[in-house]
Amino acid sequence: MVQSSYDVVVVGAGHTGLALATLLVQGGYRVAVVERELSAGGMIRTDEAMGTGIVHHPHAVLLGFADVMPLRRELAAVGLETVTPASQHALVFRDGRPAVTIWRRDHLARTHASLSVYSRSDADLLVDLLQRADGMTLAMRRLLTRPPTTASIADHLAAVGRVYRGLRPPVDGRMSAADLITARFRTPEVRALLLLLTAELGSDPSVPGSAAGFLGSVLWQLGRRAVPRSGMGAVARAYRRAAETAGAELLLGHAVTGLSRRGANVDGVVVGGERVLRARHVVSTLGEAETDELLGAAHRHPFDTPLTTTVRTHLLLREPLRLRSETQDDAPAVQTFFGADDPVAVLERLADVRRGAFPAPGGVLLRPVLADPAQRSRTGAVAMVDTAFPHVDTWAAADGPVIGRELPSAAFSALTGYGSEGDELIAGHVAPPGRGDRHLRLDLGAGHYRTSARSLWRAGSGVHPGGGVHGGSAAIVAGLIRAEDEARHV
Ligand SMILES: Cc1cc2nc3c(=O)[nH]c(=O)nc-3n(C[C@H](O)[C@H](O)[C@H](O)COP(=O)(O)OP(=O)(O)OC[C@H]3O[C@@H](n4cnc5c(N)ncnc54)[C@H](O)[C@@H]3O)c2cc1C
Repeated sequence: MVQSSYDVVVVGAGHTGLALATLLVQGGYRVAVVERELSAGGMIRTDEAMGTGIVHHPHAVLLGFADVMPLRRELAAVGLETVTPASQHALVFRDGRPAVTIWRRDHLARTHASLSVYSRSDADLLVDLLQRADGMTLAMRRLLTRPPTTASIADHLAAVGRVYRGLRPPVDGRMSAADLITARFRTPEVRALLLLLTAELGSDPSVPGSAAGFLGSVLWQLGRRAVPRSGMGAVARAYRRAAETAGAELLLGHAVTGLSRRGANVDGVVVGGERVLRARHVVSTLGEAETDELLGAAHRHPFDTPLTTTVRTHLLLREPLRLRSETQDDAPAVQTFFGADDPVAVLERLADVRRGAFPAPGGVLLRPVLADPAQRSRTGAVAMVDTAFPHVDTWAAADGPVIGRELPSAAFSALTGYGSEGDELIAGHVAPPGRGDRHLRLDLGAGHYRTSARSLWRAGSGVHPGGGVHGGSAAIVAGLIRAEDEARHV
């Protein structure tokens, strides 16, 4: 067997693996990243599955943490450009009532005007909360780049307490986001949008304790979404360039098929059954179950409650979609919710998904092409619709093909109920659910990133700070590896 040796071998060249490699090489480590696909990027790739020149993002499409993500300077230095669209999140209504829109952070007056159509006091309150949430930036940076510990969680909650001092009713550890939103906002239109945003950016708003997450993270994220120029694939290319410029070695088109072990210690990876890459540390950026499979261990932590799976449908239309309800706004939001118009419908949708009933088509319409001409297609307009389904692990074998066949036309007809006449569906494509909706099981401290084997670490969307394109867990694991080596005087 051919052998090579490194300080660290990283399994997977998604953005986490590439960020980790960059950070470790910057710290003097010799690092190899092994990726089974021929291209890097994982869930931040850009495809042309409906035809040449029709850009697709099967998974991630927007950057929510562009301001605070580790390596943002390195990515900019290798040419990554982003745009932050003025109109950000909106809820549209089937009956044509004006959309409720949250604009970029420097357009608070427009957010205020949009909400004021329904309630002046709701507009005043949301603008006040958004302004206060700006005070969470340092705490958010810390949340993203520190392991979860009792002390770090207490620190974050203390920051929430300071930033929202005097808020009534006072938020205790058991209050749900739905309780807080219902107690403080008067109109169903505003409440529904905030519940949807909490479900998307935080957690189930009906869960006890989610009020702290609404204040401490969701509100900060509103109005900060950035669109990478030329699509998410540009972020993958930039991460790859940053890793290679720093000096990491990339092995593309090589699947890791097993781990090399010495006693309880993992000391390398087996690639394609024929080559061993030895290393003092191995980091898996795969999910927990996949990492346990590599270890040859029975998966010890089955997902307790299956969460949702997001199925993305790409619709190719003749014209950019115009929704009746948003015609008052000159710039349709990059993220528009449809299909759950009031708080009861939002919470019922979540309850439906939780108990395993497939919801009616509805969800989020994503339109990064509106902000970035480089993503426009010459053939037509691409609309991306995310629909929440019960977790893919709970699907019967027949469900996948049915969803693949039916969803584009079902999503299109649901959308036309909200839109103007005359659009036509030219082509549809469903991105198969990936492992992106990995379940996050929170342990405290460095143990959260460790496995049952010594020297095998975990990073990526299966660990804190969870899914999202920001490289937070890469920064944490790089720090833990360095700290361990320093303690061992390596
Ligand atoms: C539908 C959907 C929409 C999303 N939208 C957004 C969004 O708009 N914004 C956002 O910030 N986040 C979004 N996310 C989340 C985000 O895409 C992910 O959290 C993030 O891309 C995960 O990156 P990663 O590097 O941790 O993992 P991955 O990108 O999954 O990387 C893992 C890599 O490991 C490789 N691999 C797997 N097995 C092996 C093996 N045996 N050997 C070698 N290599 C292997 C894979 O090919 C892959 O390249 C979305 C996720 C989904 C599913």
